[in-house]
Amino acid sequence: MGLMEHKFSDNIITSTVDGVINWARRSSLWPVTFGLACCAIEMMAAGASKYDLDRLGIIFRATPRQSDLMIVAGTVTRKMAPVVRKVYDQMPEPKWVIAMGSCATSGGIFDTYSTVQGVDEIVPVDFYIPGCPPRPEALLDALVALQEKIKSDKVLRK
Ligand code: SF4
Repeated sequence: MGLMEHKFSDNIITSTVDGVINWARRSSLWPVTFGLACCAIEMMAAGASKYDLDRLGIIFRATPRQSDLMIVAGTVTRKMAPVVRKVYDQMPEPKWVIAMGSCATSGGIFDTYSTVQGVDEIVPVDFYIPGCPPRPEALLDALVALQEKIKSDKVLRK
């Protein structure tokens, strides 16, 4: 019996279904590829070799149908708003949104009729990143915070 116990302790990991699903979800965040203005350049920098989002399992996808994360990087104009919503609607559940930069969070310096005063008028936002533009480190910080949030999600019991 002692031998059996030793064998199991080397080969069995116990967890919960929530734990395994949340681990898979937070380890493979796939943002949909699109940028609206200058903040998108910082987002691209975060994905490039210096910051290397791939190492966190964060890989940009060219279609919303394979994505679970929307990073709204840039100014959202009234003309663009329905398109942003359509892209969001095409993403499967569960999905998350990060508003990157002053423009996406509040309209920024563009307090005009043609600019949406915060993308949360169109889609639900999980994290807001201040700054004009925020640095890639700020985006990384939000992504790590999102991974922490997903860690404690209730998958089986809502
Ligand atoms: S927050 Fe600043 S850098 Fe970002 S899109 Fe607006 S004006 Fe450009």
